[in-house]
Amino acid sequence: EKAALEAFRGQETVTADGIKKILACNIGSPNDVANALEHDAEAIGLFRSEFLFMDAAELPSEEEQFQAYRKVASALKGAPVIIRTLDVGGDKEIPYLHMEKEENPFMGFRAVRYCLENADQYKVQLRALLRAGAFGDVKIMIPLVTCVEEVRAVKALVEECKAELEAEGLKYDENIEVGVMMETPAASLIADKLAEEADFFSIGTNDLIGYTMCADRGNDHISNLYQVYYPAVLRSIKNIIESGVKAGIMVGMCGEAAADPLLEPLLISFGLEEFSMSAPSILRARKTISQWSKAECDELAEKALACTTAAEVKALLEAAAR
Ligand code: PEP
Ligand code: MG
Repeated sequence: EKAALEAFRGQETVTADGIKKILACNIGSPNDVANALEHDAEAIGLFRSEFLFMDAAELPSEEEQFQAYRKVASALKGAPVIIRTLDVGGDKEIPYLHMEKEENPFMGFRAVRYCLENADQYKVQLRALLRAGAFGDVKIMIPLVTCVEEVRAVKALVEECKAELEAEGLKYDENIEVGVMMETPAASLIADKLAEEADFFSIGTNDLIGYTMCADRGNDHISNLYQVYYPAVLRSIKNIIESGVKAGIMVGMCGEAAADPLLEPLLISFGLEEFSMSAPSILRARKTISQWSKAECDELAEKALACTTAAEVKALLEAAAR
């Protein structure tokens, strides 16, 4: 098994009929890049920047953040890295921010909502990202988006930061891409509108499943509801990918589902371009992708979308698995 996977090392990621895909890695720290490259990652599809904040005693300065992002960008030698701006709240706590206790933290004041209310603090991160963009292919990703207004507000802040950096004579990437993390039902339902504002999409299935099924990823009593195979979730993923593809933007997936060999043929059918996962899954995913043609994936997807229950979907995908 392991030796068979080694045959895929250093190869392009292509479907059986030659459609090129990107196999990327999710990381939480600049130190993870080496391991990602060792596992043959072609890009970083998600850098969870909150770990820089969680590991600190106070807010990391622009310089500290810049150094961390630049380190990643440089190590990738031109390959792209999607850096998600601070995704605080919900399951991600940062003690020194002293955020108010909320009854419903997953539906509360968190992620982009918190950042937009603390714009001066957010601009420190955006400036650091823009500056790191001068040293590699850095892309900015906004977490927990639910409406177009949030994307416009972040893009306005990015423009403010660019003007400041310009005036200060600091190097930055004037064409930095700003993408949307698609991880809420609201974002999915307006995917066509968001695609007009975003430079790319990345689907965060960990939260998308939870918010769509109203099922916490960590609660054992309802783990049966927390499955990507539910028709509601599949339809949502399909809509996001197809909306992005139609608008001509790159669509990736950085939630755990991107590494699910049962789901991968459906993602190929919908038109997903980048699959981002933890390092050890990369070669296996390259193999799975190589075993399916688009036409075969389309046939399977049509059957999967006709299913009524998650169990039917899963049984279908298991029977078809290669
Ligand atoms: C997701 O929600 O799918 C995701 C990739 O982000 P996180 O797991 O950090 O919430
Ligand atoms: Mg998430």
